[in-house]
Amino acid sequence: MANEGVTQPVTRTVTEPAIALRAATKRYGTGPAVLEAVDLSVGKREFVSIIGPSGCGKSTLLKLVAGLSPLSAGTIAIDGMTPSNAREIVSFIFQDATLLPWRTVRENIVLGLELEGMAKARRHEKVDRVLSLVGLDNVADSFPRQLSGGMKMRVSIARALATRPQVLLLDEPFAALDEMTRDRLNEDLLRLRDEHQWTALFVTHSVAEAVFLSTRIIVLAPHPGRLARDIPIDLPFPRTEATRSTAAFEQSVIDVSRALRGVSLQ
Ligand code: ADP
Ligand code: MG
Repeated sequence: MANEGVTQPVTRTVTEPAIALRAATKRYGTGPAVLEAVDLSVGKREFVSIIGPSGCGKSTLLKLVAGLSPLSAGTIAIDGMTPSNAREIVSFIFQDATLLPWRTVRENIVLGLELEGMAKARRHEKVDRVLSLVGLDNVADSFPRQLSGGMKMRVSIARALATRPQVLLLDEPFAALDEMTRDRLNEDLLRLRDEHQWTALFVTHSVAEAVFLSTRIIVLAPHPGRLARDIPIDLPFPRTEATRSTAAFEQSVIDVSRALRGVSLQ
């Protein structure tokens, strides 16, 4: 053998974090720092929730990662790229489903693929797949006004997933929905994550929702927004309705609520 006796270097697979913020600081104009020196690494396929009092910079943090707003200092890398170069691999889901009212469900979902310049036949094949994934096959030709809030949110999720993002940013996507619909969508979201394997950064006000979905929860403190706590959620996957009534789930909810109260009273 040619290499016999030669010491081979140990090959190690170094997996870069999917999202890495280093001393990320943000001010709007000449205002005070909204986020100050945030260091955060999110590994590939992690599901990280961000919670914190209103105005502590949660939405700002997602906008920075999405490249929708420039950093004032520090760096952000998405899969090693700057946020503006990484736009193709990032999808953003907002609380308001932001569907075009004059387009059907199918046409709304196809929109992202049209913008990508995908051929028409492939677009429709992809949309069919994603529609059945989120359980919308039977309303493909309906208009947004004909759908419930929960279904509109499903369309919004389908649209975000159609482009097969590697990073999914979700800003309080289920805040306007009733609890049962929200719980169902949470379970669906985890199922979709199993199939698609994206990395998620999820903003919510609901501690129970954050615990149910996350591998880790980041608690932000306000004025200026900064990282206060980083709490791993070790509940096993798959998580189902039954997960919510386990003692471990309840304990995590208590721990995170306490951490949140701590930063809210500062
Ligand atoms: P959160 O999502 O945690 O409620 P935001 O990121 O929306 O917080 O806002 C954080 C702070 O930044 C708030 O004080 C808010 O008023 C301010 N802010 C957000 N967006 C802008 C903007 N476009 N221009 C100026 N100030 C902003
Ligand atoms: Mg917000």
